[in-house]
Amino acid sequence: MSARGEVPASVLIRGGTVATAADVYPADVLIEDGAIAAIGRLPDAAAAETIDAAGCYVLPGGVDPHVHFQTPTGGTWTCDSFTTGTVAAAHGGVTSAIHFCVQEPGEPLDATVARWRGLLDDSPPVVDVGFHAMVTDLSTPELRAGLRSLPALGVSTFKVFMSGESMLDGGTLLATLQEAARCGAMVMVHAEDGEAIDLLVAEALAAGRVAPRHHATTRPPETEALAVARAIGLARLAGASLYVVHVSSAQALRVVAEARAAGADVTGETCPQYLLLDERCLDGDPDEAAKYLFTPPPRTPADQEALWDGLARGELAVVASDHGGFPLAAKRGHADFTRIPQGLPGVETRLGLLHHHGVRSGRLSLSRLVELLSANPARRFGLYPRKGAIAVGSDADVVVFDPERRTTIAAAALHSATDYSPYDGWEVVGAPRAVLVRGRVVVRDGELEAEPGHGAYLPRAVTGARRAGVAA
Ligand code: MN
Repeated sequence: MSARGEVPASVLIRGGTVATAADVYPADVLIEDGAIAAIGRLPDAAAAETIDAAGCYVLPGGVDPHVHFQTPTGGTWTCDSFTTGTVAAAHGGVTSAIHFCVQEPGEPLDATVARWRGLLDDSPPVVDVGFHAMVTDLSTPELRAGLRSLPALGVSTFKVFMSGESMLDGGTLLATLQEAARCGAMVMVHAEDGEAIDLLVAEALAAGRVAPRHHATTRPPETEALAVARAIGLARLAGASLYVVHVSSAQALRVVAEARAAGADVTGETCPQYLLLDERCLDGDPDEAAKYLFTPPPRTPADQEALWDGLARGELAVVASDHGGFPLAAKRGHADFTRIPQGLPGVETRLGLLHHHGVRSGRLSLSRLVELLSANPARRFGLYPRKGAIAVGSDADVVVFDPERRTTIAAAALHSATDYSPYDGWEVVGAPRAVLVRGRVVVRDGELEAEPGHGAYLPRAVTGARRAGVAA
């Protein structure tokens, strides 16, 4: 708990409809000392402060397990600090964000985490922030053994890349999975066949195919599906739990679903951009198309439908943002698509978009929305039931959400340091009225009320399989 945030001793959220992953029912929620103390029909006198939730849903705060704040990439940096990124998160009903700590070459992984803890102290967050370790270098036995030190630091997930500037070779992938199985960590994989993509990109550039749309044509769904299958095979070999980030295509989804049906310990994530944007965004004026340059690329409308079905059927368990924005000036003016920084802002728009296009359109139930945005990420990432639940004893991370409030997404009104949104001008029905982190209102009616520093570092428990007979 931050020393600076004055948390009222008690808050009563009155007259709302509580929605959890399991249930939707009318109830008041009493908060005491930052935790949920009672749920039911409660007297007004119970609390020092009352929040009127009539006509609103009372949701567990969002858990976004996939954000990149102030991260070096592609010769530049994602432009949100921990402070600006978590202010954007808070406005979007995200009360816990899990960030990727990038290992520098040769850096022991405990030092990686310590360095990022220092950066978090220097840029204090408004909501709680957990860490994943992004593995780039296991070239010595000491670096490899360093993975085992991470769960004790609250870092229970290791991220690996199969493409791009941080691409790992197959031996390093397997070593990471073996170490994860040794200590109960889960491995998160960016699954694209980097070697095939590198060839396709070289061919495109040599032929003068430099426009943004060739970001998509050089990373076809086959490259994603092949890498997902390889990652799942290596994880089974190691006995490790695997989490596939940003599943973008019907082909890759099918590989995840078939492996799950066969008993593999694999969890699939997708992101709003794969549900709502398609490859046509990359056509036309290159400086406009650059806004939609992210990886994997946007796919086809048929892929979008497959992903929505995968969410409804339980083949995909989490919707995360992959928030990692750049200013337009950094996205524009490049001679070819490979020079455009890859990423987009999204932590603030995740809840509104998924409620509007998922729940209001009838594709997802309200409980399924809560499961995808809060409960499942909390469970999978070692935070449940402290986070992701409206339950007695849980942290009072709560979104009072008005399902009828009509807003038009406008980049200038969003809070990321990024100066555009891929959803600029989209109308969304449903928005947070109040967002609480550990009992403290951080955002009310669109205004920030908490100081940077109210958010805290969030250590997480291990949730992955442990390989029998291997000592931790
Ligand atoms: Mn990412």
